[in-house]
Amino acid sequence: MSIMKRSFLSFLLWLTFTGLFAQEVAVSSPDKQLRLSFQISDGKPFYSVSYKGKPMLENSPLGLTTNAGDFSSGMKYLGKTEGTVDKKYTQDRIKTAEVHYVANKLSLDLENAQGKKITVVFQVSNNDIAFRYELPSWKETLACVVEKEATGFKFPAATITFLSTMMDPMAGWARTTPSYETPYVADAPMRKEKPAKEGYIFPGLFGVGNTGWVLVSETGVSSLYCASHLSELSEDGVYTVAYPNPKHNNGFGSTGAALSLPGVTPWRTITVSDNLKPIVETTIPFSVVEPLYEASQKYKYGKSTWSWIIWQDNSMNYADQVKFIDLAADLKYEYILIDALWDSNIGKERMRELIKYAQTKGVDVFLWYNSNGGFNDAPQGPRNKMNTSVARKQEMKWLRELGVKGLKVDFFGGDKQETMRLYEDILSDANDYGLMIIFHGTTLPRGWERMYPNFVGSEAVLASEMLVFNESTRKEEAYNATLHPFIRNAVGSMEFGGTLLNKYLVKNNQARNKRLTSDAFQLATAVLFQNPVQMFGITPNNLSDVPAFEIDFMKQVPTTWEETAFIDGYPGKYVVLARRSGDKWYVAAANGEKQVKELTVTLPMLAGRELNQIYDKEGGDAAIQKIRVPKNGKVKLRLMPGGGAVIF
Ligand code: CA
Repeated sequence: MSIMKRSFLSFLLWLTFTGLFAQEVAVSSPDKQLRLSFQISDGKPFYSVSYKGKPMLENSPLGLTTNAGDFSSGMKYLGKTEGTVDKKYTQDRIKTAEVHYVANKLSLDLENAQGKKITVVFQVSNNDIAFRYELPSWKETLACVVEKEATGFKFPAATITFLSTMMDPMAGWARTTPSYETPYVADAPMRKEKPAKEGYIFPGLFGVGNTGWVLVSETGVSSLYCASHLSELSEDGVYTVAYPNPKHNNGFGSTGAALSLPGVTPWRTITVSDNLKPIVETTIPFSVVEPLYEASQKYKYGKSTWSWIIWQDNSMNYADQVKFIDLAADLKYEYILIDALWDSNIGKERMRELIKYAQTKGVDVFLWYNSNGGFNDAPQGPRNKMNTSVARKQEMKWLRELGVKGLKVDFFGGDKQETMRLYEDILSDANDYGLMIIFHGTTLPRGWERMYPNFVGSEAVLASEMLVFNESTRKEEAYNATLHPFIRNAVGSMEFGGTLLNKYLVKNNQARNKRLTSDAFQLATAVLFQNPVQMFGITPNNLSDVPAFEIDFMKQVPTTWEETAFIDGYPGKYVVLARRSGDKWYVAAANGEKQVKELTVTLPMLAGRELNQIYDKEGGDAAIQKIRVPKNGKVKLRLMPGGGAVIF
């Protein structure tokens, strides 16, 4: 063999060895607009994403590191399997009832330097990518700990962000953070002046130049994994999938995930489009997961009153709870939520009587519980009833005897697998005792509406309580509201506890905590914010001090929907959304900006119909009028700053 030939062969070997001989494999959506390609470069796996030929994600890293081997470098491509997914399902409790999920599937077999294999699975539907790692068993190795991931998202340079920072661990009130309560900031650059050292929570929304929108999130997180989030942008411009700070849960429990092999990671989801409609309407968090158990009964969703939001701790007594039970009965609401401190202020014996009273009025009961436990200092009772299986089942037996229908469990310890186990254990036990579950002081629900049949919603948002506590939150109320349908509430039910009709967010409705949004805006949020059980902030005085048409609207507004349609808007500026319950549509609009907004929106589903419209008058009060939607479906809206409208 000549010197020339030999050096050429070794050059080829070197190419193969270093992976510079990059193999590119690709998969497109059924409509061919969304395309994902994969390659190994220098032993490192990467993917990139384009939509209608325009780059949405540049070469973004893949891979993970386990205590049984590294799968982020020294990787070799072995081969691929292609397939399709075509799945129809019905789902209550989310933005739409009937979902038809069609995706092209690409599974890539990779091998690391020690000859251990993993598979990366991509499912690409018309506007959504879902991907995860599947880990086989490696000979006698039947368990591993996933320590970290290389998985990342590299956006083109001209990308703007809509992100919420991950809160510091064990900080804030009673060391109860992180609880996903930092407001989102719209239209911000990727490279921040003040870096977020804890990174950013899921979901994150990204505007890619003038060409696209990308919503990144995570779904399918059960007790078998930790919840992840996005890191701060790295030096080379990548947001990486990050695991919880070791300080979560008062430092107890590992970060990372313990997997039985074969095992899988959660799905990471990337919703992509050149407009905002597929972002608002996405159902990807639910399409790639399955129910983990059967509902023990048919759960009933609906509306609830709660005294705590406006009347606060002082109202946690028998007499005031009777007033809110009576209010729920007057409004024909299904529920009352009796919040923290009932255990000490009313006591278990009188609770039996109170719950019986509610039932005689046709009102069922949700009760508040502290999730603790030994992971933060949240002092409100009942404590130590939800954190162990023994205490929990004993308590739930009592709750079932009393006919309690649901619990609001508050103040969780963070995102570690340790805490994901607690969420799942509470849900699973609660189903055995016929209880629906709402989480507060909590992480983002990740596909839970479909995975857990008795899960009805999580807070994980700067919610109504902060409107009572902070003037700064009141000032940003409308701005924040116009973000949720595009981001937080796009991926999961959001238990906001809103629609506050007091002019002042205080019991006597005078002088303190002035609400800075209009009544029509408040009514609109009842439709804009999706949660199958809504705790509305209406108080007994509202029956006589707000116009009757507002109360009538709050009596009839549904809390579950068969369909959701994005009409118009821009996150942080304004939003117009339509939701359908049965054959009745509800259109809600909100203005997050400081000037009057005049809009002409197209509502084809309402063409030719005569409907009611509640709108802002000049002074901020609400009025109602009949409108006839013309054949072309075009309707004019005039929204005051912090204002809104509903059409129904
Ligand atoms: Ca909270």
